[in-house]
Amino acid sequence: MTVYNFNAGPSPIPAEVLQQAKNEMFNIEQSSVAVMELSHRGAVYEKIHYEARDTLREILNVPETFEILFLQGGASVQFAMTAMNFLHPDKTAQFVSTGSWSEKAQKEAGYFGQTSLLASSKEDNYRFIPEVDLHKAPDDTAYVHVTSNNTIFGTQWGELPKKAKHPVFVDMSSDILSKEINWDNIDLAYAGAQKNAGMSGVTLVFIKKELLEQARDVSPSLSYKQHAKANSLYNTPPTAAIYMTGLVAKWIKNLGGVSVMADRAKERADRIYRAIDESNGFYQGHAVETSRSLMNITFRLQTEELDKAFLKEASDRGFLGLNGHRSVGGCRVSNYNAITDDAIDALLTLMSDFQK
Ligand code: PMP
Repeated sequence: MTVYNFNAGPSPIPAEVLQQAKNEMFNIEQSSVAVMELSHRGAVYEKIHYEARDTLREILNVPETFEILFLQGGASVQFAMTAMNFLHPDKTAQFVSTGSWSEKAQKEAGYFGQTSLLASSKEDNYRFIPEVDLHKAPDDTAYVHVTSNNTIFGTQWGELPKKAKHPVFVDMSSDILSKEINWDNIDLAYAGAQKNAGMSGVTLVFIKKELLEQARDVSPSLSYKQHAKANSLYNTPPTAAIYMTGLVAKWIKNLGGVSVMADRAKERADRIYRAIDESNGFYQGHAVETSRSLMNITFRLQTEELDKAFLKEASDRGFLGLNGHRSVGGCRVSNYNAITDDAIDALLTLMSDFQK
């Protein structure tokens, strides 16, 4: 049976990338060993490391004014690390809360200093992205934290809020590499790799060099400055995960870049939202239309029993990961870059058959 993997994270990796990793498993770059057996201080690994970083810079058009770091600990550690490094004692970190991950980001930051809510859509069960004017952030703002795509609730910023005078930090864990990024509105961005950028184990961090100058003096292993100075080789990096990110970045580049990913995601998401909208209420989307995510499409059926029956039918037909997050229930389609048109076709057939 064909398996259609819609897992929300870790998520499918392009088949071509997995095939390449398999082909190179016993002999990476003519070294006669596997990538995870290489020293991170050796020339063979260093080539892989810098190529991954440089390909990311190229496909995301990251200005030279930003460092690109490969760190460990997932996006969750970035919730804390951003605050450790940039939440100065006399300042407050402002959060735009658009879902569970924003809440967690604020909670982690709270262990290191003052935090506050700038805007939130919690009262409406995170069905929309609130309007935010960053000019209204208080003077003592250390930084404003935004989650660009809300993996659990299925909402996404169309465009990030326009930067005012305070630094803007963005959690891009679930839409990195799915579209072009306007770096003018960002000072720091981070993303766990396990959705659109490879496998778990590495977290991508993009940080303005100018911002690094303002970092607090924190323990070296959790200091952005230290990691930047050492080109992400301060201690042993997650070498195999960085290799996979490099392969995924090259795969995107060969397909024409992130703008091609964006077009594909939009076309596929449109087909699914159309199926929801044209189902006469049989399928009900969670997000309000203007805040809909192209990456995570969340919906319910009319009753929990129907949700369960739909998910059972999906599972019988070889679908993985269509259940909503355990905290919200319902269904979720994760439409990341590695999803194929065949998987979307099969999903639409499932939805239509089940409704009949
Ligand atoms: N932020 C967002 C938007 C996420 O989707 C996730 C994980 N799904 C996280 C943060 C946490 O990532 P990690 O598990 O890598 O810490």
